[in-house]
Amino acid sequence: MIPIIIGAIVGVFVLICLITLLRIYFRSDSRKGKKGEKRAATLLKKHMMHGDKLINDVILYDEETKSSVQIDHILFSTRGIYVIETKNYSGKIYGTDKQSIWTHVYDENKPAMQFYSPVKQNVIHISAVKKILHNPLTTIYNIVIFTSGDISGVECRYVYTPVTLNNFFKTHTEAKLSPVARDKMYEEISEYAKKNQISKRQHIKNVEKTQKDLDNKICPRCKGHLVKRVGKYGEFWGCENYPECRFAMRIKNK
Ligand SMILES: [Zn+2]
Repeated sequence: MIPIIIGAIVGVFVLICLITLLRIYFRSDSRKGKKGEKRAATLLKKHMMHGDKLINDVILYDEETKSSVQIDHILFSTRGIYVIETKNYSGKIYGTDKQSIWTHVYDENKPAMQFYSPVKQNVIHISAVKKILHNPLTTIYNIVIFTSGDISGVECRYVYTPVTLNNFFKTHTEAKLSPVARDKMYEEISEYAKKNQISKRQHIKNVEKTQKDLDNKICPRCKGHLVKRVGKYGEFWGCENYPECRFAMRIKNK
């Protein structure tokens, strides 16, 4: 009798654990993120012209600064190079061009979540891409796609829904690069990513390390000290090695 009871208790316990794990999995941000990236890749493929190339989910590691970025998509087209960040949030999003911190209201009855501006995040991705390409004149477009959610509270020219992105590509047809130049840049990025491969785990470690540097007021690019400066838009943290190092970070105003 007793073994049966113990067996039943263990059984129920295992079942509860399993249900909890499944719930965490289905609600996880990374899974939602992956779904958004897949949707975006399908969308982008529709707008690729003959010979255009797409790189999905790539990590670019910079040996010099020991930092890395993870980019959702890079589209190499004769119309230009597009660096694309995808967000798959439900609920309402608020943010503007200039704000570093955006707001995500998932549920009216729950406190709003804050997240780093995906447009500014993508500016960092673009500088990583530019650093690798041997063509500093190339225009690289910053594109942020919200594959779901309500972005009527976002005032930013770089942010698109799947519908507005379709319209953007329909009107954005002028060729800016020769097929040879496009293919060369695609090769440069692909080769670089292959040569400097690091794991996702290492990437997350690098991100944490950069955050730690910033918390200690150390420049993540050249390891110089960050000093308070005043610019057009108010105070900011700048690198002591300016103008050799142009790292700058807005002082978060709460
Ligand atoms: Zn610096």
